Parts: sequence; C-alpha cells; structure tokens
Amino acid sequence: MVLHRALLNESMTYRAQRAQIENRALQYETARISPERRGVATIPVVVHVVHNPEIPEQNIGDEQIHSQIAVLNRDFRAKNPDVSKVPPVWRSLVADSMVEFRIATVDPFGEPTDGIVRVETHRRKFEICASPGCPASERDQVKSSAAGGADAWPSDRYLNIWVCQLGSTPGGGTLLGYAQFPGGPPQTDGVVITHSCFGTTGTAQAPFDGGRTATHEIGHWLDLFHIWGDDDGACSNDDKVADTPNQANANVGKPGFPHVSCRNGPNGDMFMNYMDYVDDDAMFMFTQGQRERMNACLEGARASLLVGGRVAPEVKPEMEVAAVGGALSGGNGDMQRLLQDLQESEKRTKELLDSLHDALGLVAGRGGR
Ligand SMILES: [Zn+2]
Repeated sequence: MVLHRALLNESMTYRAQRAQIENRALQYETARISPERRGVATIPVVVHVVHNPEIPEQNIGDEQIHSQIAVLNRDFRAKNPDVSKVPPVWRSLVADSMVEFRIATVDPFGEPTDGIVRVETHRRKFEICASPGCPASERDQVKSSAAGGADAWPSDRYLNIWVCQLGSTPGGGTLLGYAQFPGGPPQTDGVVITHSCFGTTGTAQAPFDGGRTATHEIGHWLDLFHIWGDDDGACSNDDKVADTPNQANANVGKPGFPHVSCRNGPNGDMFMNYMDYVDDDAMFMFTQGQRERMNACLEGARASLLVGGRVAPEVKPEMEVAAVGGALSGGNGDMQRLLQDLQESEKRTKELLDSLHDALGLVAGRGGR
C-alpha cells in the first residue's frame, strides 16, 4: 500500500489511471457490467530469482518455485483443502476466481524458457524505499538490472514475480512482499516476495511457508485492497467490496472466530480472507465480490494478459444473427453481412458509451481524491 500511496502522490497519470480502473471495478461490483469471459484465465508467469552469491539460500531451487505456482492454482480456484475451515456463515461467499498461473514456456523473444530467470546481485537485500524522503530512484531496485536487480519482462504479457531478500517495512517490521496495483508504470509492474515467504519448500519459513504471501500480493496486482481498507482502525474506509464486512484494522497471527470490530457483529471480521495479514495457515478465501473486482481488472487494465489464453465469448448472438439473416434473405450472404455489421456497430456504440462512462468517472474520481 505504501507504494500505491507514493505513486498516487507523485504521478498524475497514475491517479488518472486509478480513477478509471476504480470506476470500472464499481460497475462490475454493482453488476452494471457482467464479465465477458466464461473460461479460466491462464496467466503466464516469470520468476526472477535475484540472489547474492555469498548468501546461497537466496538462490532458491526450482522445486520451491513450482510449489508456489501450485499454491496459487489452488487458492485462486478455491481448490485449497483448508477452504473447509471458512466459517459456515461465509461459505456461500467463497469464490472460484477462475484464474490460473502457468510458468512461462516462451520468453519475450519467442524462445523456449523454463520461466525462471536467475540473476546475481551485489546487494545483500532490497529495501522497499517508499516512505517520504527516500528518492524514487532508490525504489524498486530489484526490478532494474542497472540497480542490481532484474528487468521486468513485458508486463502486458507476463506476471513478473521477483524473489529476493527484502529488507524492512517503513515501520521497521519484516517485509514479506509487496505489489504494484494495475495502472502503474509497466517497467515495475508485478510482485516482489522475500524468499523465506515464497512457496512451501526450500527456504520457506513458518508461519509464512504456505505460499499465501504471493496469493495476497497477486490479489493486489489484480486490484484487491486490504480487507480492512487501510484506515488504521477508523472504520471509515473499506476495501470497496460489498460482501466483505467492514473491519477496523489488520488481523495478525491466528485469530479466533468471531473477532468483532467496526460494529460488524455477530460474525465480525473476515480475517480468514487472503487480503488480511494473518498467518498463512489462517487464510483460506476470496469472496464473490473480490472475484468481480479481479474480473474488472482482467477485462480492463490487464486485459492484454488474457489475449493468448482467452476463451472465445459465447457464440449464441452470432448464431441468432445467422438464423435471422437466413430467414430474411433465404440464405443471402449480403443480408447476413449487413446484419452482422449492424451488430458490430451496436457493439462499438456500447463500447463508446462504456468509455464515456469511464471518462465521467475519471473526472468525478479526481474531484474526490
Ligand atoms: Zn497487502
């Protein structure tokens, strides 16, 4: 979140992008737009392992990387065995996000790859450097080869995951990972995870050895906010998702159910949501509302990632046109084409209206910030 705030402060482009993305998310959340995709979205992933040769454990093994991908494919499909621990009151909200992750098999130049980039660094660790006073040039060094890290692969085609040794949070705590929300600079787009919180084997350490740091960070990358709304306990801001209860602050460790805050009794905080801060073995779910936000992102700001694996939209409307055309013209191809053209222009008009809506939201959003 600190990076998100820093970018909001520094970049008017980012503020404008965020307003547009937020407007679209609202339309999905309130069902004014229904998701177009019907199948599972498969996202190509590249993992950059940035390690110091003097600290061998930073160069994590392939097995640890694959263990992380396996966790993501369970969590984002609600196939994680511990989903059974969701309290009965919220079971109907558990969502299959219909998103899967596949380690890249083709690199940006079209060459075969195992999707893992190993880069040696002279740095012993990387700092997030997002607090006031830390210059932007020193931020995100893990994402730049010139600064001792690894350059991103094109972020419109790959999810970039950097694995390294992270330093401390601006507050002095241990930084497990961080993410860039959609709408930010492409060259720093992706998520960063400290190696001891990555995957379930190798150097992964309890209580963050369940691969859930990446689940949480990729949740941000797909536009999800923290479930408590980052208002430091004020109960005034939420995560812009209607089916997650408003909660005061982050939960940590392994809370007992129910934990009530912000007058959200009797069921209290949904602390077992991936977007809280609890231990890996205490978080198990995304909700339907969170899935809609992710859909808005995947069909909006991150739509380019779906092009390769996109499932064709339903064919029914086209079949209807063909049938009508046939009835009117006795199979006349010109009439069919005319009707198809009409349908196409109707679609374009709708897209134009949608973008006008976005633009209106953009202005309103700017005024509101
Ligand atoms: Zn977070």
